[in-house]
Amino acid sequence: METVLNDFVKDALALNATHAAVVEVVKIPFSEDFRKLCEENSCGSYDKNWMCPPTVGPISNLIKRALGFNRGLIFQTVHQLEDSFDWEGMQEGQANHEKIFREILKHVEDNNIFKELLPLSAGPCMYCLKCAHLTGKKCYFPDKAVSSVEAYGINVTALVKDCGIPYYNGQNTVSYVGLILFKM
Ligand code: SF4
Repeated sequence: METVLNDFVKDALALNATHAAVVEVVKIPFSEDFRKLCEENSCGSYDKNWMCPPTVGPISNLIKRALGFNRGLIFQTVHQLEDSFDWEGMQEGQANHEKIFREILKHVEDNNIFKELLPLSAGPCMYCLKCAHLTGKKCYFPDKAVSSVEAYGINVTALVKDCGIPYYNGQNTVSYVGLILFKM
C-alpha cells in the first residue's frame, strides 16, 4: 500500500500540484472553531453553496465522518499574482486549482483501489458555474459535489506544516490545498 500511496504523490505532482504528501487521518488537526469563520462569511459563500455551511451539515458530524477514513493525499497548488491586490489573479488561481484538483481526483477514482473516498478542496464547490443553491434548486450533480477542508474544520495551516509543505510560497503568490481521504 505504501508504494501505491507514494505513487499518488508522484502522480499529483505530475498533474501540476506544486507539493503533495500522504497524511494519516488521526494526525489531522480538526477544530470546531473553524465553523465560526464560515459563519462570519469571510469568503462570501456562506449559505450560497450546497457544500458550504450551513447546508453541508454540522461541523461535529463532518469531523466524525472524516475520522472514519484512514489516510489521505494532500496537495497544494501555487499561483503567481501580479501583486498582493491582484483579485483577478486570485480567482484565476482558484479556477486553476479546481482544474488540477478534479484531474487528481479523477486519477485516484480511476484507480479504484479504495473502499471510499472523501475529496475536500479549497472554498465552495465549483463544479457548476452557478451553484443550484442560489436559485433554491437541489444540487445538480451530487456525485460530483465537493466540500472544503475549511467546512470540515481542518486546520490547514497546521496540517501543511506537519506534512513539510510550506503555507507561504513567496511574495505575490496564492496557494490552495486539496485533500482526498481514503478508506481502505
Ligand atoms: S455540484 Fe453544482 S449544484 Fe452541486 S454543490 Fe457543486 S456547484 Fe452546487
